[in-house]
Amino acid sequence: MATVYFDEATRIFASGQAPAVDHLTLDIPEGEFLVLVGPSGCGKSTTLRMLAGLEAVNGGRILIDGHDQKGVRGRDRDVAMVFQSYALYPNMTAGENMAFALTNAKVAKDEIQKRVAEAARILELEPLIDRKPGQLSGGQRQRVAMGRAIVRNPKVFCMDEPLSNLDAKLRVSTRSEIAALQRRLGITTVYVTHDQVEAMTMGHRVAVLRDGRLQQVGTPQDLYDNPVNTFVAAFIGSPSITLIESPVHDGVASVHGASVPLNRALLAGATDSVVVGLRPEAWRLVDAGTQNAVDLRVDLVESLGSESFIYGVPVDHSAAGAGRPADDADVIGLGGGSRGQRITVHAGKKVRPGVGDVVRIACDPDEVHLFAADTGERLTA
Ligand code: ATP
Repeated sequence: MATVYFDEATRIFASGQAPAVDHLTLDIPEGEFLVLVGPSGCGKSTTLRMLAGLEAVNGGRILIDGHDQKGVRGRDRDVAMVFQSYALYPNMTAGENMAFALTNAKVAKDEIQKRVAEAARILELEPLIDRKPGQLSGGQRQRVAMGRAIVRNPKVFCMDEPLSNLDAKLRVSTRSEIAALQRRLGITTVYVTHDQVEAMTMGHRVAVLRDGRLQQVGTPQDLYDNPVNTFVAAFIGSPSITLIESPVHDGVASVHGASVPLNRALLAGATDSVVVGLRPEAWRLVDAGTQNAVDLRVDLVESLGSESFIYGVPVDHSAAGAGRPADDADVIGLGGGSRGQRITVHAGKKVRPGVGDVVRIACDPDEVHLFAADTGERLTA
């Protein structure tokens, strides 16, 4: 177990190019499971590779247990990496694959046997230990790759999208296995994914990157409840938050014609327009005649058994729009996988409008997230 500290760590691949990782400062305590998440190309893998010593650091430092890793080769860092591709040797058995790094490091034979047996037991690989990778399923190969990292008993685990090659069902079961295993072993872990559901369910804390820059780090719930900007708000949460740029008059926002009173303390400094963020649970279905609500033309209903999500586009009742769905320009989606063109409503299992129906919805003003229209930053008192 070890602490990891990124201190303004920066990686620039070519001069004139924007940094792949830009002044990253991140303090990871002993035993933490930290998930690095963000869209493709935001610098997640580069961050991990810098920590593992596979990539140079052009500015700042990386400390492991307080020691600057500058000049320390990857193999001397005591960091074990698990890759998306597993990278198993096809001509070796599962057991030999797991033992390989220890054999190379000239660890005593009986010690190797002991560690491989222990890893095989933890990962329930004992019956498969003599099989070659070609005779294993994707999930089993993934566990061998984990075993190869575990036997090294490293200070830090670095995992780069280790579940990407698994089918959807296996991903769900394996992600809980990895999270449980990490808690049991207590080894400081940095885990890279672009999948926000993995980020929300696996880590103690989640760090969100965008264009090489850290946007926010916090517990999954904190990121969900208090996103620092529209990017994090849109990236975290599934289905996505709806972000709507709304005019403000006298402390009241107009959301598709419905008036939403805003927290005036938050509006100090804001101009005449804000971005209102509403997660699916902030909306509720109301009776057709209800005042101060929005008509939504349903274009998709996702029923998950115990609950459902209703997706739709607000109907424009203005003279110009007369009953048509509102223009896309009325609703903004700010990247990060946002489905921002539409409003999503969380509903119970009994409510099942049909596609094309118009339902009336109202939002809870207490559930509103507020962001500055010009910068996208969260408005705080
Ligand atoms: P993904 O989720 O697609 O794997 P990522 O968040 O892991 O993406 P990185 O692989 O860290 O992103 O890449 C960050 C940026 O650095 C990208 O713009 C990428 O094109 C660039 N990059 C990565 N490796 C190199 C390299 N060897 N040379 C030049 N640029 C690189």
